[in-house]
Amino acid sequence: MSSLSIPPPKRLEKPLVVPYRHVFGPGPSNVPPRILEAGANPVIGHMHPEIFEIMSDIKSGIRYSFQTQNNMTLAVSGTGHTAMECAIFNTVEPGESVLAAVNGIWGERAADMAERIGARVNTIVAAPGGCFTNAEIEQALSKHRPTLFFLAHGESSTGVLHPLDGIGQLCHKYNCLFLVDSVASIGGAPLRMDQQGIDILYTGSQKVLNAPPGTAPISFSERACQKIFNRKTKPVSFFLDLSWLANYWGCDGKPSRVYHHTGPVTAFYSLRESLAVLVEEGLENSCERHQKVAEYFHAGLESMGLKLFVKEKKARLPTVTTIVAPHGYDWKEITAYIMKTHNLEISGGLGPSVGLVLRVGLMGCNSSKPNVDMVLAALKDALKHCHKSKV
Ligand code: PMP
Repeated sequence: MSSLSIPPPKRLEKPLVVPYRHVFGPGPSNVPPRILEAGANPVIGHMHPEIFEIMSDIKSGIRYSFQTQNNMTLAVSGTGHTAMECAIFNTVEPGESVLAAVNGIWGERAADMAERIGARVNTIVAAPGGCFTNAEIEQALSKHRPTLFFLAHGESSTGVLHPLDGIGQLCHKYNCLFLVDSVASIGGAPLRMDQQGIDILYTGSQKVLNAPPGTAPISFSERACQKIFNRKTKPVSFFLDLSWLANYWGCDGKPSRVYHHTGPVTAFYSLRESLAVLVEEGLENSCERHQKVAEYFHAGLESMGLKLFVKEKKARLPTVTTIVAPHGYDWKEITAYIMKTHNLEISGGLGPSVGLVLRVGLMGCNSSKPNVDMVLAALKDALKHCHKSKV
C-alpha cells in the first residue's frame, strides 16, 4: 500500500472550543448542566438491559408529556424531521391522499415528504401568521378524503399556536388519521393527545425539553397502528419502519428485541433526564410558566413600539415569538449585532416568514422573566445602533 496522501489535519490538533451562548432562537435551546451531565455518563451497549430500562423511563415520560396511553410510544433516533418522516412514511402508501395545513413552513415540508413517497397531496393554505377554522378543515377533508391530515400545533416559522379541539373528531368522521407536529410546543402549550383525538404526535428533544438535538419522541394511536400494520407495501425507509422500531422500543409485545440500529445511548440519557425535569415541574406548571413569560415578553415588545406578527392573542405561540421585522432596518444586521454584542442568538424568519419577522424562542429553562429582560435590552440596544434607512 502506498503512503498516506492525506496528511493528518492540523486543525484537529487544536483542542475543541465551544463558547457559552444564550440560544434564544427557535431551537435548539440551552441545555442545563443537569441534562448535559446525564449525557456524559458512560456508553454501554444499546441492547443492554439497563438501556431498555432507560427506554421504558423515556416512554413513560413521553406518555406523560403527550398525555396519552398509547402503547406505541417511543423516540426516534434523529431530529424532528426524522419523526415527521417516520409518521408520514409509515402511515401513507403510494397513491393515497394526504392533506396538509400550510400556514408556515412545516405544512410545506410535510407536503414535500408525502409527495416524495408518491402520495396525492393537497393543501389548505392560510397566510403566514394565520390559522384554519374547523369548518375550513372539514370542507377540505370532505373534498379530498385524505388518509392523513397534517397540522402544526406550534408553527415555529410564523409563531402561531393552532387550536386543536374538535379536529381529531372531524378527521375520524372522514376516516382520516390526524397527525400533529408539536416540536415547538410540547411542554410549553397545553395539548392532550388522547382527549384531542390525535393519532400521531411527535416532538423534538431540543426545544422545551432542553435536551441536545438528536432524539424525537413520537406516539401512534391504536387507529394509526391498525393502518400501519395492515399496509400492502413496505414503508420506503428501513430505518424508520415502525415494525422494527416498535420491536427495538419494546412496544410490539414480543419477548425479545432484535438489533435494528444502534440507539444513541447518551442521547437517551439526556432525553430521560429532560423528561424527569418536566415531570418534576409538572406539565401544567410548565405550560403556565411559558404562557406567563410570553405575555410578559409580548407586553415588553409592545411597550418598545415593536409589533407582534400574530395579531390574535390566543393564537400566539408561547414558546416562539414572532416580531414584525422593525421598519427601516435590515433584520440580518439586528440578529448579527445581538449575537456579536450580547452573545445571544435570535433569528430571522423561515420559509414564508423570511424578511417579515424576527423570531425569539424562550423554551424550557430559557423561559424566564430575567431572560425576557435580557432579550428586550438587546433589542433596544440593536435598534439604537443598527443602521436605519430614512425611507
Ligand atoms: N417542526 C417544527 C414546528 C419545528 O419548529 C422544527 C424545528 N425548527 C421541526 C419541525 C424540525 O425539527 P428538527 O430541526 O429537529 O429536524
